[in-house]
Amino acid sequence: MTGQGGFDSHVLALVDVAARLVNATSPGDAGGHPVAAPTGDALRSAVAEALGGPERRTPTVTAAHADALAGIALRLREVFDAAAEGRVADAVTVLNDVMAATGARPQLDPLPDGGWHVHFHGTTDDLATGWAAGCAAGLALAVGSNLAGRLGVCAADRCDRVYVDVTKNSTRRFCSTACQNRTKAAAFRARRH
Ligand SMILES: [Zn+2]
Repeated sequence: MTGQGGFDSHVLALVDVAARLVNATSPGDAGGHPVAAPTGDALRSAVAEALGGPERRTPTVTAAHADALAGIALRLREVFDAAAEGRVADAVTVLNDVMAATGARPQLDPLPDGGWHVHFHGTTDDLATGWAAGCAAGLALAVGSNLAGRLGVCAADRCDRVYVDVTKNSTRRFCSTACQNRTKAAAFRARRH
């Protein structure tokens, strides 16, 4: 099934979680403000929220899972950075590493309302390994197809949050409407001076 922006719906769900994990756990700049990497309970809830979503229940995340996924998110950030800069070979190196480390493998699983779907599992179905394998495999399918250009890093000043572009014509440049508006306002002020 083909969904938004040419993404298979399952692949889109995985790359979306990858982007959410990166944004929830990596230090840098968000919307014009510096952000530190969360730790302790804040990290556990940030990871739980990133893994949850409108169509998934929010999982219970242990400190060990949160630490493992924050480590994976740093690798996945390299994938978004590399893809956004057109360094696809660098993104490929990282993804092959993460897939090998997690033992990412496809498996046919039953869908709730009948039928089957290819899901990605890791060497264990442990929360951290399973999601790390799934996110890496999802990103690999995007990078290995014509969708590498769909992985982006916010173009706004002082923001490095990542996004997945699902627009029809591949026109997204910002992580959020806030960053888009901030950039427009700055350009407007610059023109007035
Ligand atoms: Zn932004």
